[in-house]
Amino acid sequence: MISKIIASQKITAVEELLDQYDKIVIVTHVSPDGDAIGSSLGLYHYLNDLGNDVNIIVPNSFPDFLKWIPGAKDIFDYEKYPEYAQKLIAEAELIFCLDFNVPKRSHHLAPFIEAAKGKKVLIDHHPDPTEFCDVMISYPEISSTSELVFRLICRMGDFEVMSYNTATAIYTGMMTDTGAFTYNSNNIEIYYIIGELLKKGINKDQIYSNVYHNYTEDRYRMLGYTLSEKMKVYPEYNSALIWLTNEEQSRYNVKKGDTEGFANLPLNIKGIIFSVFIREDNDFIKISFRSQGDFASNQFASKCFNGGGHLNAAGGEFYGTMDEAIAIFEKALPEFGDLLKKNNILTK
Ligand code: 5GP
Ligand code: MN
Repeated sequence: MISKIIASQKITAVEELLDQYDKIVIVTHVSPDGDAIGSSLGLYHYLNDLGNDVNIIVPNSFPDFLKWIPGAKDIFDYEKYPEYAQKLIAEAELIFCLDFNVPKRSHHLAPFIEAAKGKKVLIDHHPDPTEFCDVMISYPEISSTSELVFRLICRMGDFEVMSYNTATAIYTGMMTDTGAFTYNSNNIEIYYIIGELLKKGINKDQIYSNVYHNYTEDRYRMLGYTLSEKMKVYPEYNSALIWLTNEEQSRYNVKKGDTEGFANLPLNIKGIIFSVFIREDNDFIKISFRSQGDFASNQFASKCFNGGGHLNAAGGEFYGTMDEAIAIFEKALPEFGDLLKKNNILTK
């Protein structure tokens, strides 16, 4: 048995909404990752199997290494079908907001979600959500939204009807949000849940391979270039920076998701507990923060780049030049110096 993390009145509230409504839309955060897509598809198959009319809408595209998940080709990308997506959101009786804590994380979907008449249910694990949904299933101590979807389905008494497709999608989200169970993954119940998912016939080894053995040659060569030429280590702060310009990314024909995981790489170096990856996107700069141990990468993200996220994985956006972004980062390092040094003693 797993413990009852989700409050009973929230389970009842979702059950009542599902009894009443069957025109459902699921939305995620911008640049959806494995957990956003995995939790959405897990819920999607479950709700579909119950006979609902369900659609998933993402604010923009998601990486190829998630496209093998059953149902992925049915997901609507707002950037490809903006009018249809707006219509679906406006007409939905029930909207599930998955893997984000504030409307603006869904980028161009935010105004439509906020204006929508349908009832809203949040399922998420990011700290400090705003109360923008009728039912708020927000549990930052849980390592993935996908795990919360599993818990919700079970608590509604439907483990028996959970399909292979739902189980596969949920496992993918749990796996990707914990770096294949290498961080944020000490909760024993995760492994109980994996056991339950295996009973549904998931092939966890194949899922790992589908996600992580999926590099293109270009992506692999860019990785070599990045580690060799574009990584700066700050030993006095136990930190490292990697950065890539638009030009460098086009040299390696970068596609969505090709730099996924790069932010984690400097953490493999002995002594490094804080890693920052600054990447030019089309019209802004995307910054990813990763840390180990107690160092709060989300506090760094929010202080320097108005971003946020989890303790050990956070992000932010910057509107300016690459040089300016690097300068902000380097100026902030000494300000966090004591925490960076202290943390190193505790964790290594
Ligand atoms: P990633 O670096 O993989 O894009 O993001 C890591 C985590 O940081 C995400 O799970 C999300 O919680 C958070 N995050 C990423 N970008 C942003 C952002 O622009 N703003 C905020 N508030 N959080 C972000
Ligand atoms: Mn997540």
